[in-house]
Amino acid sequence: MYLVEVNRELCSGCGECVGACPAKLLALDGEKKSFVQGDPAECLGCESCTILCTRGAVKVTEY
Ligand code: SF4
Ligand code: SF4
Repeated sequence: MYLVEVNRELCSGCGECVGACPAKLLALDGEKKSFVQGDPAECLGCESCTILCTRGAVKVTEY
């Protein structure tokens, strides 16, 4: 099982992670910050978001 978290302070709002997530777990809010929509535990652990994020704003943890 995997858990995804976004650090809003680090997010630049580029949106790269949003399009990359096969589980459609990431979205941009009204402030152009990425956030986890739905259940963060539905993360597949593919790491697409962490690889694409140049700000280190997304963290995926296996548990
Ligand atoms: S890839 Fe990183 S900086 Fe870009 S929107 Fe996602 S979390 Fe924010
Ligand atoms: S690791 Fe994969 S499934 Fe999980 S949030 Fe990132 S892109 Fe989506």
